[in-house]
Amino acid sequence: MTDIFGRCRAWSAYRAQLDPAIYPYFRSIASRQDGTEVEVDGRRLIMAGSNDYLGLSCDPRVIDAAARALARFGTSCSGSRLLNGTLTLHEELESEMARFLGRSAAVVVTTGFQTNLAVAALLDRDSVVFADRHNHASLVDAVQLGASKHRRYRHNDMAHLRHLLETTESAGSRLIITDGAFSMGGDICDLPQIVKLAQMHSARVVVDGAHDVGLLGERGRGVAEHFGVEEQVDLVITTLSKCFGSLGGVFAGPAEVIDYARHHARSIVFAASLPPANVAAALAALRILESEPERRRRAFQVAEQLNNGLRAVGFNTGDSVTPVVPVRAGSKLECLRFWSELFAAGIFVNAVLPPAAPEGTAVIRITLSALHTDQHIDRIIEECTAVGRRLGFIPSTPPISFE
Ligand code: PMP
Repeated sequence: MTDIFGRCRAWSAYRAQLDPAIYPYFRSIASRQDGTEVEVDGRRLIMAGSNDYLGLSCDPRVIDAAARALARFGTSCSGSRLLNGTLTLHEELESEMARFLGRSAAVVVTTGFQTNLAVAALLDRDSVVFADRHNHASLVDAVQLGASKHRRYRHNDMAHLRHLLETTESAGSRLIITDGAFSMGGDICDLPQIVKLAQMHSARVVVDGAHDVGLLGERGRGVAEHFGVEEQVDLVITTLSKCFGSLGGVFAGPAEVIDYARHHARSIVFAASLPPANVAAALAALRILESEPERRRRAFQVAEQLNNGLRAVGFNTGDSVTPVVPVRAGSKLECLRFWSELFAAGIFVNAVLPPAAPEGTAVIRITLSALHTDQHIDRIIEECTAVGRRLGFIPSTPPISFE
């Protein structure tokens, strides 16, 4: 017989021999995260590791809306949406999000993770889900919860998706599910091809817009709007913890599907609803996001500035086109050293190790906000260059450009 805690002892032993100076996780922050700088261990650091892309989590209008909701409705609904957990505020956010996303209905869920898990309610043993290998963990879990067949195609490889669609026999339903913008690579899915293949093979399409709704598209409706294929996408999911400066998620689509999901998805039915302050914060953020499009333009501008600066000195930032800028950083140990030197130099970024990192190499994931100044970006490039050269990630002189 084995003890279920046995693995924890093995983990403790492994953790004990790690050098705490290069351990990047659970670093506690002693200040608000206003999208640009934070205080850690008494030092000011540039925050380049948050997903608050539009810098709304500390916007005074968002804080004020949350504070008013807190005073009016209290800290918690203490119950499921289905029972006592639906406030007029939730319904207001749902109708506003449905309008914003151009969908007939939407349901607000307590976290983005649970929103993705809600997809499981639409699946059964006979369903086949075709999924990008870089999809977020919550979408992987949703397919497992749905007990469906999981056919994972190589990242953004449309020939592979086509092959899987052509060769997978099934009498049940078919679904293609993808992140809109990928959380680790900052690249976007080939949605025009996906919707075409979906039509040819009678599959529904669900897009998780966690990292693109609020950023991409003329009105910020995400990848589907960016490519002009909104009508061919059946369901849009987004989180409220990134561009919306709050917490929670939204599941949007045809009214009958949304009504089904809110009555059947276990991650919705059996969980307490999103707290009032977070609902109000997301509502205020949505209004700002719609009325201040310059915020998303700025987020792309700083991302381009960073991408150009890092590529110019020889870093590989992959195919990033969003404010998520991944820097290839070699082995786990090399990446942790890179991280710790940046941290010591005053830059807070994230170390992403395999298997979470996209192509088998660890990455330093830099994420930017519309509130970063040009000076912040210059500092990030400067420190990455100095550390990158010292550790041998990039040559000591910039590569020659023939452009
Ligand atoms: N989808 C994607 C693509 C994500 O990156 C994340 C979180 N990082 C989620 C869903 C889950 O959202 P949340 O953290 O808001 O629960």
